Amino acid sequence: MKSYWQNFIDGAWVDGGAGRIAVQDPATSEQIAEHALADAGDVDKAVQAARRVHRSGALRDLRPVERGRMVQAMGRYLLENLDEIAPVLTAEQGKPLWESRIEIEGAARYFEYYGNQAETVEGRSIPLGAGYFDFTTYEPMGVSAQIIPWNYPVEMTARSLSAALATGNACVIKSPELTPLTNAWFAKAAEHVGLPNGAVNVLCGLGRDAGAALAGHPDVNQIVFTGSVQTGIAIATAAAANVVPCVLELGGKSAAIVHEDADLEAFETDIRWGIFFNAGQVCSAMSRVIVHESRHDELVERAAKIASGLIVRPGEESPEFGANMGAMVSEGQRDRAVHMVSRAQEQGARVVTGGRALNRAGAFMEPTVLSGVTGDMEIAQQEVFGPVLSVLPFASEAEAVEIANGTDYGLVGGVFTRDTDRAMRAARDVRAGQVFVNEWYAGGVETPFGGYGKSGYGREKGREALWNYVQTKNVAIKLGGGA
Ligand code: NAD
Repeated sequence: MKSYWQNFIDGAWVDGGAGRIAVQDPATSEQIAEHALADAGDVDKAVQAARRVHRSGALRDLRPVERGRMVQAMGRYLLENLDEIAPVLTAEQGKPLWESRIEIEGAARYFEYYGNQAETVEGRSIPLGAGYFDFTTYEPMGVSAQIIPWNYPVEMTARSLSAALATGNACVIKSPELTPLTNAWFAKAAEHVGLPNGAVNVLCGLGRDAGAALAGHPDVNQIVFTGSVQTGIAIATAAAANVVPCVLELGGKSAAIVHEDADLEAFETDIRWGIFFNAGQVCSAMSRVIVHESRHDELVERAAKIASGLIVRPGEESPEFGANMGAMVSEGQRDRAVHMVSRAQEQGARVVTGGRALNRAGAFMEPTVLSGVTGDMEIAQQEVFGPVLSVLPFASEAEAVEIANGTDYGLVGGVFTRDTDRAMRAARDVRAGQVFVNEWYAGGVETPFGGYGKSGYGREKGREALWNYVQTKNVAIKLGGGA
């Protein structure tokens, strides 16, 4: 791997005004590369470059089918380079190699989907009576600022970048400082498909420095952010000062409600992927299971079997699909999760399996299952962002929904039952942007995704996300040559 990576501003690879940042492999905690670190001046250059592209019409005025084809070609470029990108993603983020491949394929899928959608953004005509003609049209917002988290650096960038480009916006990407390397391929993809200089700018900088400068920049027209609630509030506050709209995707404390008639054998798969994929560092992780008391012990036993059966080892040593879990993104994130488990124990939760850091170099944590958790405990209220499943029993359907809705979050939820009526009642009553029935992570790029409550606002994925990136303009015409 190359030892020094640069930012990409206005079509050129450049150093950072704030110097360099060391990038570590969380599986060894050793430095693997350095990345240029942007300051507020770099952010301004990137925003001005994007603004120039927007004003030139080079993206805005393209026929949507042409923009769509370029967006799709960017996705193909990612797939063509998958073998090169995947080891870099594993090295900077910690996830197993096969998970990195899944992430990159998922990223390419966004470009395929939104490339296709480019042509569907079309207006309508509203009758105003004889003597008038009226139409509504959609224009790109202009400069789209995208502040990216470290848990899925490739997929989260793809999610916003593909939709923003498809609708004709010029983009400034603020890569996460823990995992900035793989975002270089978005700059390369933009070059490869011939997007104008400045249409895609990719820079790494500290949140409080480059991130804050981007969120508060007066020439940014739209902001997309995924990350913590605290940072989301700071970004929305900065954006509000410029009256700039945001999409905020701020994580969750999502719950699966498992009824007494659920197929618990099948549910083992949901446990595997719902809480241990990406070592639990997923905003829509199934971090709570609320299970009918009659099946509680069986479910805890099955969850413990899944957790203790996982091999925890460096992501580059990937034995086979699904068999292993990699390092967490940093020792800091790992320690935070371990401390949350200790505090849960002090509050009365029982560690059924796991709960500790691995006694080896790197940011490894044992896959963990907690029972005896009650809805008011910190572990049931706060996002752990680690491989920690909390199991809570319920006696009645109403109680299950009350526990599920009993946090400040509302990103996703799930219900597992063979009774369709019961599933539909939960789908109605659970306060979350997406409800999964009988399969955690059912859905896809096509299905809208986003939060209720402190999980944020606005929607990503699906056709709904397109509306984040366009202005609505209505043109009302008096016929007959005017006054
Ligand atoms: P964070 O929210 O602070 O960072 C996410 C991104 O925001 C990074 O690119 C960062 O540089 C940037 N940022 C930070 N402060 C900023 C500011 N003031 N203005 C503009 N941008 C800023 O997340 P973190 O500190 O890396 O992780 C903390 C916690 O956030 C995690 O433990 C987890 O609970 C949560 N998290 C959630 C998600 C998610 O997908 N919902 C992703 C990452 C982290």
